[in-house]
Amino acid sequence: LFAQNSEFLKGVVAMDGLPPADRLEVCFAGRSNVGKSTLINALTGRKGLARASNTPGRTQEINFFTLADLYLVDLPGYGYAKAPVKVVEKWQRLLKAYLSGRATLRRVFLLIDSRHGVKEVDQEIMKLLNSAAVTFQVVMTKTDKPKSSELDKILQGVREALAKHPAAYPEIILTSSEKGSGISTLRAAIARLASE
Ligand code: GDP
Repeated sequence: LFAQNSEFLKGVVAMDGLPPADRLEVCFAGRSNVGKSTLINALTGRKGLARASNTPGRTQEINFFTLADLYLVDLPGYGYAKAPVKVVEKWQRLLKAYLSGRATLRRVFLLIDSRHGVKEVDQEIMKLLNSAAVTFQVVMTKTDKPKSSELDKILQGVREALAKHPAAYPEIILTSSEKGSGISTLRAAIARLASE
């Protein structure tokens, strides 16, 4: 799966812009600066691939990449309240419509920063995913940053948050793009979904 090139397909701003749901897809979500672009680049082995989603103007788009027979979907980083209310509302409507209506969406990988743990905005996304009955799995990023005792405490908090949501996949994937750790575990999880 990951031996093949991943390519940027398109950025979507409205439901009618979605590519046809003709293959399985997995989605990546997380707060701004969580390390999502870095992780997607590590995952696909392509530096700069996911940068498109971070350039100004693209922040309200759902970005689709092809990866072999899959779509890899990059949701814009959330948690920055810079955008005007109207823009945020439009974005939330699109996000809700996308998440609840996409039959081929197999899983959302929800990225959580190992230094910060689950924040209010993460809880909101979890609630949304849960009500849309979309399975989500937490991927901890930057695990090279905290001391292991700090990481344990953060993980405890994550588990408590997950316990509230039936749509949560119980296994948490620990990654560090810096160290390259956990990337193969994440790849294996995606490959398993692709072969189901
Ligand atoms: P995004 O906004 O979620 O796409 O975040 P980026 O991928 O742009 O990363 C945000 C910052 O975190 C950058 O300065 C990265 O170099 C840094 N970063 C990303 N992954 C890691 C990691 O695994 N370890 C460490 N220490 N820093 C990371």
